[in-house]
Amino acid sequence: MPAEFDLIRTLAAAARPDPRAPLGIGDDAAVLNLTGRPVVCCDLIAEGTHFPPDTPPKLVGRKALAVNLSDCAAMAATPVAAFVGLLVDRRRGYRYAEAVMRGLTELAEQFHVTLAGGDTATHDGPTSLCVTVVGTCDREVRRSGARPGDALLVTGRLGGSFPSGRHLTFTPRVAEAQALAAAAELHAMIDLSDGLLADCGRLCDASGLSAILDAAAAPLADGAENVKAALTDGEDFELLFAVSESDAARLLDAPPVACGLTRIGTVAAGAGVTVRGADGEPLRFPTAGYEHAFAADPATD
Ligand SMILES: [Mg+2]
Repeated sequence: MPAEFDLIRTLAAAARPDPRAPLGIGDDAAVLNLTGRPVVCCDLIAEGTHFPPDTPPKLVGRKALAVNLSDCAAMAATPVAAFVGLLVDRRRGYRYAEAVMRGLTELAEQFHVTLAGGDTATHDGPTSLCVTVVGTCDREVRRSGARPGDALLVTGRLGGSFPSGRHLTFTPRVAEAQALAAAAELHAMIDLSDGLLADCGRLCDASGLSAILDAAAAPLADGAENVKAALTDGEDFELLFAVSESDAARLLDAPPVACGLTRIGTVAAGAGVTVRGADGEPLRFPTAGYEHAFAADPATD
């Protein structure tokens, strides 16, 4: 029966030599050759939480890398190398694990990312993948740089990602982030993983500012039921960023990206995110994104 080392051998054999990873899979650790400021991100996905059990395994592997590439994009960084921790439900076969890794390596190739290491194991529990991506940037775009009066723009369309299955097939906005960073001074940026309202709140908190969003401006994706879905559904993996009014006008006039750009609101002094309806009145939404909760700790004394 094939096991852990067969999978590693298969991956190592499939890996192409890459000058950015002079030492990749097969030693105790990888050695990278980076030019620019290193940027590192890590994100995990688990069966039952981030993907349904019947998800095709290639899409599971794809998503595990894609969410990390989205985080790289949010920093306006170029992803270089990926490290994969794969923990597979023991009831799944070897072919399942291999297909997961194939989905991951296909996306890696598409984004010119080298798989430089990782670990695999099986256990009596749900399949989960933890991926770390190392990238580089000249100057990272943080969440904290928004300025009062900045325009807030989003790429693409929002809402209904999970029910429509888009959360498994989305395009990480790596190239788009670079095109935007080349075309304008991006003051602050975040990728939308937990819903526009929640993630906009994070950008505002990090910047010590507030935002006013226009509900009517929200670009609804196919499968997004309504404005509430566009504002609060998670897993869009689009980019939300803050730029000056003049840069916003230039970007909207001649977008440097093909995925669409929408002005969604404005940064202001204060704290919190206000959504305005078409009549200018504030709207209230009962949920503001998704947050993973812990169970109560067992009582100790
Ligand atoms: Mg993120």
